[in-house]
Amino acid sequence: MIEIKNLVVEIEGNRILNGLDLTVADGEVAAIMGPNGSGKSTLSYVIAGKEDYEVLDGEILLDGENLLELEAYERASKGVFLAFQYPLEIPGVATMSFLKAILNAQRKAREEEELTTPDFLRLVRGAAEKLEINQEMLKRALNVGFSGGEKKRMEILQMALLQPKFCILDETDSGLDIDALRIVSEGVNALRDEKRAFLVITHYQRLLNHIVPDTVHVMSKGRIVRSGGKELALELEASGYAEYSTEAA
Ligand code: ADP
Ligand code: MG
Ligand code: MG
Repeated sequence: MIEIKNLVVEIEGNRILNGLDLTVADGEVAAIMGPNGSGKSTLSYVIAGKEDYEVLDGEILLDGENLLELEAYERASKGVFLAFQYPLEIPGVATMSFLKAILNAQRKAREEEELTTPDFLRLVRGAAEKLEINQEMLKRALNVGFSGGEKKRMEILQMALLQPKFCILDETDSGLDIDALRIVSEGVNALRDEKRAFLVITHYQRLLNHIVPDTVHVMSKGRIVRSGGKELALELEASGYAEYSTEAA
């Protein structure tokens, strides 16, 4: 479903991704692990369509369509979703208004009617409750003053509402205590089904005890250098990343 072929990306003349190949099938949960600086966040941004990157070679196909030819909002409307490693605080934008805007933008792209306010409230409240996000938080400005764990749960709430086809989670576990980790993981696991694919980026094995991946890939210097099953994560936990240099490509 997602096929990344020979992806070569630079930022300001520095090569960050260096011929990366990766395939994630429908229904698959693929984990990417790797040392800091190996290019994991860059990969997630390039898939989602963040600007500032120079893509020198390669393609990113979603069901055969090259995402690199689309704007970020078009990729989102086709079902690409990125849960940020560092969610942004947006002062002046109420969380509820933001959630309504993203849901209605998606519906508009699909030529569906806007949600009525009662339907919207029912949907959001139900999803928020499962993630233990309280109603007061939804009234505040998006992410402003939220704890690290609250910000990550807010990312998962957006994912639960949008029901994307391809979900990328960039170090969603960083900064989470064990309760938040459980809540976030349950939120992700509830979305697993045979049509949806996940790319779960993490530096630590811990998250993968909760979100058990089908495949594990090791990233180093901007490419995938090893792939295996879930046991590979345990092996990395034991051996560390010492054999994979942390230098950029
Ligand atoms: P990871 O998520 O695996 O820790 P990143 O994708 O954040 O890695 O970063 C990969 C490399 O790219 C690092 O060496 C980082 O310093 C560099 N890098 C990332 N963003 C930029 C940028 N905007 N300008 C210059 N270098 C960058
Ligand atoms: Mg990092
Ligand atoms: Mg990162």
